[in-house]
This record gives sequence, C-alpha cells and structure tokens, in this order.
Amino acid sequence: MRRLKYNGYTIVMQEVPNEISLAINISDCPYKCKGCHSSYLWDYVGLYLTNDIDNLLDKYSSLISCVCFMGGDQNQEELLYCLKKAKKRKLKTCLYTGNDDIDSISKEVVESLDYIKIGRYIEELGGLSCKTTNQRMFDLNNNKEIFFYK
Ligand code: SF4
Repeated sequence: MRRLKYNGYTIVMQEVPNEISLAINISDCPYKCKGCHSSYLWDYVGLYLTNDIDNLLDKYSSLISCVCFMGGDQNQEELLYCLKKAKKRKLKTCLYTGNDDIDSISKEVVESLDYIKIGRYIEELGGLSCKTTNQRMFDLNNNKEIFFYK
C-alpha cells in the first residue's frame, strides 16, 4: 500500500453544506472515473500527507470548521491518522470518495467522520447537484442524507 500524497488544498464552502472546509486533494485516485474533472489527481504526485497534516491544521484550524479529504480511502490507516488529528482540534471531518460501497470503508474511519460522500462519477448521471446522480452524501451524526438539488 502506498503512502498518501496530496496535490494542493483549498478552503471551500460548497462541498460540505454549512461548513467552511479545508479541502485536501489526495492524488493516486484509484477510481479513474470516465469524465473526471480532477484527472490531475490520478497520478501519484504531490507531498506526503502525514508529514504535513500538522502544519496544515496549525495554519488553517482557526479559519475552518471542517477538514474535507478529497480521496484517501486507498490507504485507510493513514487517512485515519489524519482524521484523528482533525478531530483532536475539534474540527468536523468529511471524506469524498469514488467508492460505491460504504461497507468497504473501515468502521474506525467511518466513526471518525461527520460526513461522507460515496459513489464514482458517472458522466450520464451527473454529480451531486444533478437529480439523476448515483452519488450520495450523508450527515453521519444525524443519520441523514444530504441532497444538493431541490
Ligand atoms: S473518484 Fe473523483 S477524482 Fe477519482 S476519478 Fe472519480 S471523479 Fe475523479
């Protein structure tokens, strides 16, 4: 299993409703969805995430309410390590994954998450904002699904 690398990050408002999130873009995405808008995350490039997570949190914790991992479930041990760091700072956590099966995410990872988006991107069905989407997002604390469309 390869170590997690990330290729940039941004502060975002839309990805997790009602949260200001530090979205960390993790590379080496194993899902390779056709029509992916983030194909720059397919290659194994960037910096080692576990080396930098403390610095990122030091820098941005006071500005955010949530850390959103854009990928990372290909190495759930390291993902869990980073989730715990965010939780220690009382931040919420979210995972965006192209994985279709929430049961393949470990119990420990799920228990360290407040939100999860599952499902690969299927061009014909569209992303979270499309009514036809196959992707699903859950608010795990309140055990409810979040819908991005009206
Ligand atoms: S999971 Fe996301 S980043 Fe990975 S290929 Fe699919 S759309 Fe692209």
